[in-house]
Amino acid sequence: MADIKEEQLNKLEQAQLDFISTVSHELRTPLTSIRGFADTLLSSYDKLSPEQREKFLHIIKDQSNRLIKLVENLLTVSKMQSDKDLLIYKSVDVPSFVDSVVQMIKLKYKTHNYECNFAKNLPKILVDTDKFQQILLNIIDNASKYSPEGSKVKIDVKQNFDENTVSISVQDNGIGISKEDIGKIFNKFSRIDSPLTRKIYGNGLGLYITKTLVEKMNGKISVESDNNGSCFTVCFKAATPEDSGIKKIKE
Ligand code: ADP
Repeated sequence: MADIKEEQLNKLEQAQLDFISTVSHELRTPLTSIRGFADTLLSSYDKLSPEQREKFLHIIKDQSNRLIKLVENLLTVSKMQSDKDLLIYKSVDVPSFVDSVVQMIKLKYKTHNYECNFAKNLPKILVDTDKFQQILLNIIDNASKYSPEGSKVKIDVKQNFDENTVSISVQDNGIGISKEDIGKIFNKFSRIDSPLTRKIYGNGLGLYITKTLVEKMNGKISVESDNNGSCFTVCFKAATPEDSGIKKIKE
């Protein structure tokens, strides 16, 4: 009995050490780059052309954004794991919500083409709106990030009458995910290493956060993918007429 407990503690300790080591690595890479380019600007400012200065400043800005994203994701992970994470449920009209998220994404991916198809007479769903927004932002952002500029991202919202759910599918024409890798993508810090993904920034926390949030709200997430692209689907129970008010539920 005592041995089992000790073994569990050792595993926990090892998981914590792995986590600290991964986070430190993720923090060090952009910080090293920021310091390097700031040093070069300070020491050789007059020798650099205006174009070079601008290029280095853009790198510093991109790397700072990368750090901000990582810290935001880490804060979300820590909040999700704490018992103080409140879910504030509201009934939501999915088409208008999806439209507003697509408008936000369009500001970042200016050349992509977003096609939304909404089934008629969709019921509302009962979700925490901040968390639902984060779920949609993550999967639509990934669909855009892992597909070529100018390509189409198709969002379909349907009602599944058998299960009384509403599903939101996000289909891209991007790099796809192999069968061997598809089981790993929802793990913490999991990134698929390939020449294509190496060029695209990510910290591997987005889908872990997305899946955890979907399941916290009793939803489901699934993915299908091949060489032509990927399709992520999230599904939530349709709200009943009694759900129309605001409910507060502590997790
Ligand atoms: P990241 O910050 O790396 O994008 P995510 O947790 O959001 O982290 O995704 C994990 C990994 O799953 C990504 O690194 C990428 O390899 C793969 N992935 C996620 N979404 C897509 C997609 N739409 N198309 C292809 N690969 C994807």
